[in-house]
Amino acid sequence: MSDIDALLEERFGFRSFRPGQREVVAHVVAGGDALVVMPTGAGKSLCYQVPALARGGLCIVVSPLIALMKDQVDGLVERDIRATFLNSSLDRDEYEARRDRVGRGEVELLYVAPERFTPAFVHWCQRLNIQTFAVDEAHCLSQWGHDFRPEYLKLGKVREALGHPTTMALTATATPEVQDDIVKTLGIGAGQRFIQGFDRKNLVLEVIKTDKKAAKNPLLVDLVQPGPSLVYCATRKHVERACQTLRDAGVRTGMYHAGMDAYDRTRIQDAFMAGQVPVVVATNAFGMGIDKRDIRTIVHFDMPGTVEAYYQEIGRAGRDGRQSRAVLLHAGGIDRRIHEFFIDNAHPPARWVHALWQGLVATGSNPVFGTLEHWTRHLPAEAGDRAVASCLHILVREGRVRRIAPAERAAFVRILRDAPTDVRGHRKDVWDHIQAQRNLLGPSPILQFQPDVWCRELDLSRDQLHAALRGLEDRGLLAFQAADRMGGVELIDLDSPLHLDERRMEQRRNREYAKLDRMMGYVEASCRRRYVVEYFGEKAPFESCGTCDACRQGVRPGDQPMPPTPDQEQILLKVLSCVARMERLHGTRAFGISLVAKTLVGKREEKIVTWRFHELSTFGILKGWTVAEVSDVVKALIDAGALTESYVTREINRKRVTYKEVETNELGWQVMRREADAFAIRFPHPEKLDRALAASKNAPSADLVAMLRDLRRQLADDKNVPAYVVAPNETIEDMARLQPRTRSAMLAVHGMGPKRFDKFGRAFLEALRAWSPS
Ligand code: ADP
Ligand code: MG
Repeated sequence: MSDIDALLEERFGFRSFRPGQREVVAHVVAGGDALVVMPTGAGKSLCYQVPALARGGLCIVVSPLIALMKDQVDGLVERDIRATFLNSSLDRDEYEARRDRVGRGEVELLYVAPERFTPAFVHWCQRLNIQTFAVDEAHCLSQWGHDFRPEYLKLGKVREALGHPTTMALTATATPEVQDDIVKTLGIGAGQRFIQGFDRKNLVLEVIKTDKKAAKNPLLVDLVQPGPSLVYCATRKHVERACQTLRDAGVRTGMYHAGMDAYDRTRIQDAFMAGQVPVVVATNAFGMGIDKRDIRTIVHFDMPGTVEAYYQEIGRAGRDGRQSRAVLLHAGGIDRRIHEFFIDNAHPPARWVHALWQGLVATGSNPVFGTLEHWTRHLPAEAGDRAVASCLHILVREGRVRRIAPAERAAFVRILRDAPTDVRGHRKDVWDHIQAQRNLLGPSPILQFQPDVWCRELDLSRDQLHAALRGLEDRGLLAFQAADRMGGVELIDLDSPLHLDERRMEQRRNREYAKLDRMMGYVEASCRRRYVVEYFGEKAPFESCGTCDACRQGVRPGDQPMPPTPDQEQILLKVLSCVARMERLHGTRAFGISLVAKTLVGKREEKIVTWRFHELSTFGILKGWTVAEVSDVVKALIDAGALTESYVTREINRKRVTYKEVETNELGWQVMRREADAFAIRFPHPEKLDRALAASKNAPSADLVAMLRDLRRQLADDKNVPAYVVAPNETIEDMARLQPRTRSAMLAVHGMGPKRFDKFGRAFLEALRAWSPS
């Protein structure tokens, strides 16, 4: 048994290394620098913890999330490993006590956030015996990464100032480009790269395409059960809405986004970790570093903007190695446009950045204190809320502005009622303290205070004080408003003019667009697992993973194109002639896939009517198909070369919007004229064709639809859930068309899975069996 094996067992209590760990550890123990890219949950922490102990002296660990440091350190301390952290959550005495322990050489692992490295702190560090320097979540260091944090940039300089200790950078997501960036910034080019498997075998990848946003909500309820699940949304508004949908359906659901206060967020996170709340709906603020091993499902209500971000988020599922699902709900262009909006906001025009700089300089003070809202007035009126933040971000990146951490300011309580007799513990201490203050300051119901001072006077931690006040608030005794945070900025080199490299700014923006295109490509991928693995520059050991939805249904990448059957040919001709008619109606203009599909399915939407597509003879000739299915047929035609697709970016209302459009081509015309003898295609969803053809032949009877809707209403009232939870409209209509009279026939109905069948399907089945047209 080698030394590192013994150390692993004696100090960590683990019997063996996991795949990949030993190589890294051996390399670093021998003094080599390393870049480690391993999937989330693979055990990256151990890769620096073991060398840290083996090498002796101090290991500094840089980690971006203050909230997680405590957990990480607690886990180590439990194992009698001498670890500690220094960050802004500590009060002064505690901070100094810890610093002294580190100074005396009593600490093996010291965790800090990157912003800790002020010149004074670096100076202090220089006196320590630092043997190892570990940069966790190192992708934050790359401007090409999805989670760039400017404070990470100076870590190269820090490393230099510390005398080039043996250095490791660790991350779960890094394209080859981001890897280069990390290595260059930290100056560890001579070190070794350990890149390990992006392929997660136990993750089943799926994309569910919906026609419109609203169609996503009803899907959630079935997706999040059973087992712990996370639902990711792009905006707070979506978080709130999705959370409400789940709660309405009776699912215990927590909510998490950056707009909530720290106390509530911690509470939700703890409840989720402890298994008390099975589902959390969150923005991407949730989850970095979370080590919950049994997450079964990750649903993306909105598509992330990059494959890196997506991979990072779905990587949280199935860390216990058991099969888990990652489902992306996708509403096509709408999902793309959210990100176009984000990208445009994050990349404001150079003249706005100049305007902000001049506005700040013109205040005549340095530093300038204020909030982002304050500074919007320096920007033109059309600049959105996020624009100031983005402009400021650019000034920070250009080295012209330094942020000054928000100073803790006053908090308020407003007394609403007298205390009942049953307030106990910290709440009682706090309540008594409030009464004492009022005796001192007079009877006003509003009390202003410094949280720090109260913490000291009451001998409570900040969290305890907050919890007690929230507790009193829950009882209706008072209203509590946490301290307002007002930061500021320091302007650097006031007198020299601001130069911005506009070409580079534009490049950055285009790069984001290119990444978004790659994410869109995931939705169309013929094997999703292969797509992800290859995205990160690894060679997939398979052509088709056989587990993702693209492999399981629709087109299999192994399938050879085949001449269409007569039934299939009918469908193809309808689709092709529809595209041709849409073109002819408006000169030679091309249209998007979903507009073609909607016309064929017969959706009388505003856009359809505006373009007069409802007047075409091909309008609605594929009734009974879903828009998603018809879109797949269009894509199959594109693959087969019978339609041409292109990305077109148009400027609409001063906004760049990118569309994917389809046009007829020569091969398509040959197919329509039945001259393409050798024509072959991978026809998607062949198994659905029989059902769809049958359905398109019998239109649903209005009586039957009405009867089914009544029944739905009744079931919804009984169970106290919204009607769409019982059955969406599409399901009702499909039932009326197919009139299933057996369980298996019922399961073929659109949207009727085994779960819905157990809850509601039986009732519908009985009603259909009993139904006879009058
Ligand atoms: P990552 O940072 O790569 O996402 P972590 O370092 O947080 O992953 O490790 C994930 C989990 O795996 C932790 O609970 C850790 O204790 C556990 N773990 C890591 N290495 C081993 C090992 N060799 N044996 C057993 N458990 C391990
Ligand atoms: Mg980690």
